[in-house]
Amino acid sequence: MSFETFNLGKHLNKSLKNNNYTTPTPIQEKVIPLILNGDDVMAKAQTGSGKTAGFVLPLLNLLSASMIYSLQSGMMKTSQDKKQKIKVLVLTPTRELTLQVANSFSIFSEFLPYTPKVVSIIGGESIGDQLISLQKGCEIVVATSGRLLDIMDKKQIDLGSVEYFILDEADKMLDLGFADELDMILKALPLKRQNLLFSATYPDKMLTIASKITKTPIKVTLEDENPTVENITQRAIKVNRENRSPLLRHLLRVNKWNQVLVFMANKRACDNIAAKFRRHGFLAESFHGDLSQDDRNYTLDEFKNKKIKILFATDIASRGLHIDDISCVINFDLPRGLDDYIHRIGRTGRAGKLGTAISFVGHEDKEYFSLIEKRCKISIDYEEIEGFELIGDAIIKVKGKAPVKGKRKSKKDKLREMANTKIN
Ligand code: AMP
Repeated sequence: MSFETFNLGKHLNKSLKNNNYTTPTPIQEKVIPLILNGDDVMAKAQTGSGKTAGFVLPLLNLLSASMIYSLQSGMMKTSQDKKQKIKVLVLTPTRELTLQVANSFSIFSEFLPYTPKVVSIIGGESIGDQLISLQKGCEIVVATSGRLLDIMDKKQIDLGSVEYFILDEADKMLDLGFADELDMILKALPLKRQNLLFSATYPDKMLTIASKITKTPIKVTLEDENPTVENITQRAIKVNRENRSPLLRHLLRVNKWNQVLVFMANKRACDNIAAKFRRHGFLAESFHGDLSQDDRNYTLDEFKNKKIKILFATDIASRGLHIDDISCVINFDLPRGLDDYIHRIGRTGRAGKLGTAISFVGHEDKEYFSLIEKRCKISIDYEEIEGFELIGDAIIKVKGKAPVKGKRKSKKDKLREMANTKIN
């Protein structure tokens, strides 16, 4: 199948060619015709599946068709004739994903005769600039919910003309409080609109949220339900906790990896280990939520431009980062959520390339790693690397003696015993 089949028009086809998109990915094959047809869609799609272009391309096609219609029917004299109304609202879980989705809209609209204006609304950057951009008018807003609500509170955004509402990586927005935030946002939207949901997983909480947004979505899943990504070699290496750093340095030296993304359990660990690796001569940096937005953007750019080779990151980087050249992802610390494993390893093996994902597994992680394997329907043989073999036994935590079910004396037994002792 080729992109021509969708009749996206010569301008979008030109930008596809310019960006070396020749064949639609399976998710694109399925969702593009549905979106063009005006259907609500609930798609099960992981990052790396091509889902962003899956909604960006048909939305641009629909938007530009309606702009051309407005111009031709004399409703607008020129595209800049009057302040544009917001037609598309995309909500994403992270600032980075917001910028990436916004960028995707800009890239693909490069050759359109009437380029829709895109505004990103994210925390960590000047709200003033965002308000000015909104005031000037735009057709597309890509936002994280917190900052969007701040702006809604100030009554500085009119969502009353939104025709397309998109929740991207929706399962990553399920934290505490999101359902309430979503209610507030939904209240500001017209009831008649097209809704698109993209999520890697659909737990019950997600289905409840989906039912608030759309009643009759067309569900899209791909035949291969296996949540792990095919072109990624997954490995698990047994190693003692204290040997993880030396093992990582060894692996970095013997493998010819381009860019390596290393996931750590917390922000402090990222900073500490990045500093340590720099002292060992590696081009390493840390990436986490405590950095200012400018620092985050700068670090990502440096990583994309290969000035940084090893990025030590928290799970903030596991969602929606589009860096095509990451050859290896390392789980230095295993992810807290089982689904985060899928998101993390999906940072490599992108855009048809091969990737490797390695998890370090110590005594204390084995049980948890088995849960990950079960959840992701995978089975990985443990490896050991010479000189870094796992030694010692697992420390079994004993917190006092647990009562044995059925062996503990009941109150009645104790009373009976007391009565017997008194009699004897
Ligand atoms: P996404 O799942 O939207 O995060 O996309 C993953 C990566 O695949 C991005 O870097 C896209 O630029 C790339 N991509 C998406 N669709 C295609 C396609 N049809 N052909 C080539 N690359 C693509």
